[in-house]
Amino acid sequence: MLLDARDLPNDTELTPTVCIAGAGAAGITLARALRGSGFSVVLLEAGGYQLEADTQSLYEGKSVGIPYYHLHLTRLRYLGGTTNHWTGWCRPLDTIDFEHRPGIPHSGWPLTRAELDPYYARAQAIAELGPYDYAPQSWAARERQPLLPLDPALAATALWQFSPPTRFGGRYRDDLERAVDIDTFLYANVVNIETTSNGSRVAAVRAVTLDKKRLTVRPQVFVLALGAMENARLLLASTDGHPGGLGNRNDVVGRYFLEHPHANLGVLLTSASPEDFNFYRGVHNCRAGSPPAIRCALMIPEERLREERLSGFSATLEARIESPTVGRDLRIGVESLMRDLQRTRARASYQIFGRLEQIPEPTSRVYLGPRRDRIGMRRLILDWRLAPQTGGHVRRSMELLAAAIGKSRLGRVYSFLHANDPPCPARWPDVIGGHHHMGTTRMGGDPRDSVVDRDLRVHGIENFYVAGSSVFPTSGFSNPTLTIIALALRLADHLREVVK
Ligand SMILES: Cc1cc2nc3c(=O)[nH]c(=O)nc-3n(C[C@H](O)[C@H](O)[C@H](O)COP(=O)(O)OP(=O)(O)OC[C@H]3O[C@@H](n4cnc5c(N)ncnc54)[C@H](O)[C@@H]3O)c2cc1C
Repeated sequence: MLLDARDLPNDTELTPTVCIAGAGAAGITLARALRGSGFSVVLLEAGGYQLEADTQSLYEGKSVGIPYYHLHLTRLRYLGGTTNHWTGWCRPLDTIDFEHRPGIPHSGWPLTRAELDPYYARAQAIAELGPYDYAPQSWAARERQPLLPLDPALAATALWQFSPPTRFGGRYRDDLERAVDIDTFLYANVVNIETTSNGSRVAAVRAVTLDKKRLTVRPQVFVLALGAMENARLLLASTDGHPGGLGNRNDVVGRYFLEHPHANLGVLLTSASPEDFNFYRGVHNCRAGSPPAIRCALMIPEERLREERLSGFSATLEARIESPTVGRDLRIGVESLMRDLQRTRARASYQIFGRLEQIPEPTSRVYLGPRRDRIGMRRLILDWRLAPQTGGHVRRSMELLAAAIGKSRLGRVYSFLHANDPPCPARWPDVIGGHHHMGTTRMGGDPRDSVVDRDLRVHGIENFYVAGSSVFPTSGFSNPTLTIIALALRLADHLREVVK
């Protein structure tokens, strides 16, 4: 049932089996996956059915690190959450992304890709995608399109499927309306989580409406699913009996904030025919219609990443060419390109647009600032930072890509990253994020550097779980939402097993 928290009598108390805070991709997937379990589920959602300025303004914050989007524009606070905005790029994380990787500090999930595979397969339908198949070869055969003949030791093709994109609020609203075992309360802003006096269990979840009506939920199990920035914000704000914030005994909450750095990295000049690049030049509409579309990019193969201890790298080829830096670089870049164009008789040129894995870094973080929003919550400050070794990793990946393109006689790569560059981000004034917020309540076996365990349970708190990309210890280069959905499905299975 869908209900409006503003219509409840003040100080209403609810005692469901499971309370989920946040009705975005994670929260809605989890609630739907718990249908028929015998549990009563309360889903608390801050917004209504559409964007409303007074609710959205609760997301305002400040950014003090690498220039970032306004915090109230990079996520949405109403039913369906940020999927009301997303573009629908979907791809699972790769096997290597789950591994502990020498050369990538703080890497390693307490899960394997194989453990997540069955959930990824189920996530496909939820995001209205095609078969759980991301092998470029099978799509090339299915769509009768060529793949670039790259030396597999140097470079490979990565494939994304596109969700229509599924707007979780609109697409699953009827399900939530009809579900007899899920009560979704709109306009209910969760503001505090209280534990029992020994801190071992969540005792109460407090929510308020904008007109200051209070609602208390005392669930058997509580799941936080507010998105990666807001999950950290609420934990840090829940200080009753936990001075540094809930689940934050070791000062990990909010740290290791990850994004997918996006940047123009160079130019590919090619003498090959445009048809050879059909899969790479933009979105390819599928003949079968399911998924509606796919897209390919260039990546560095897993074996090479392991061998050279590099972070994940992918790059799409874009038709429009922009130089990343101004002044000297722009001039030299363009002059050199012109010479190469004449020499190679290039038929086409593409911008190499990097979609990169960020190396986990504890100083990259969100934390609470002094200013408060209209319901009294301290606003967030984002300090997004990249690890100093990032520039070296990306430059090496560009060398590998250039070698692969040259070896296959497809053309030439002009890289904007040079051997004598200082570490990034100094050289990358145009680095931007992908609106992918991750890592702020990371998963791991050791409470000293993680917040939740492999079951997504907050260390030391029996009945408290976190869903969403805040639990990612590393991000790979794949967009996060398919993994968010897969993890929510896995969490539902876990709760069905452990909650009696
Ligand atoms: C422009 C843009 C493009 C994107 N494109 C892609 C893409 O192509 N592929 C991809 O994988 N990802 C993409 N993303 C990211 C994607 O949208 C997110 O990964 C995904 O929505 C996260 O799901 P979530 O459920 O964890 O959080 P959200 O979707 O943000 O949901 C959180 C929910 O919690 C609610 N909430 C927040 N605070 C409270 C509170 N205190 N109390 C109660 N409820 C609260 C919110 O209203 C919201 O409904 C994009 C994002 C943006 C902005």
